[in-house]
Amino acid sequence: MIRKIVTDFGVIEYNLKNTTSKRITVKIKNDGSVSVLSNSSVPIAQTEKFITSKADWIVKNVQLCKQKYAMLNSSRLDSIYILGKKYPICYIPAGQIKVAFRDDIIILWGESEKAKIKLKKLLFNFAKSYFATRFNAIKTEIGVQEDIGLSVRNVKGWWGSCDYIKKIIKLSLRLIARDVNSIDSVIYHEFAHLKIHNHQKQFYSVLLSYCPNYYSYKKQLSDSKFDLSDKYILGK
Ligand SMILES: [Zn+2]
Repeated sequence: MIRKIVTDFGVIEYNLKNTTSKRITVKIKNDGSVSVLSNSSVPIAQTEKFITSKADWIVKNVQLCKQKYAMLNSSRLDSIYILGKKYPICYIPAGQIKVAFRDDIIILWGESEKAKIKLKKLLFNFAKSYFATRFNAIKTEIGVQEDIGLSVRNVKGWWGSCDYIKKIIKLSLRLIARDVNSIDSVIYHEFAHLKIHNHQKQFYSVLLSYCPNYYSYKKQLSDSKFDLSDKYILGK
């Protein structure tokens, strides 16, 4: 249900969603839309009081997200990151759709939207084989004996996930834009979940024994220089 509330910092339009949690949570999506999760037992006045108390932060971040979203949607893909390296993209008008890597630049021939789809397919295949190589190398390095599956997903919400019951590790396709160490750090993280399923102290001691520089590699995952590559790779 879309609702509006007038605050000292501006009007906040939000989608009110029900949650089983007792806590009220405010979420701002990439496009600047706001969701408020609140338990149905909480009176609307209390939810609105909570929103008002956070109005400064909400209004500021909604504006930032909207600006960034508009910028990303209007910018032409003139370069892309692959394994942390920036490749300029050159568009050449032609009748036939073709993609080639030449001297550290990517050349796309033909209608740009179709050529971009072709490049995306190439990237997806490259990501699958690159992730599989690192996955197997790390599995051997840390001595995992079990059979573990690997799956590459077109997702934005997470970098990796580990289903320790089904024994499958999933990696986000957009990792392929990141540098090799950052990609490894996510794979180590997911393998550590085979031993420890939560994110408590013991988990991080296992993870740091696998990957001592984990925190510095992890930080690089969210660098905003990857935003345009992510948007292109994920199509969202
Ligand atoms: Zn985790």
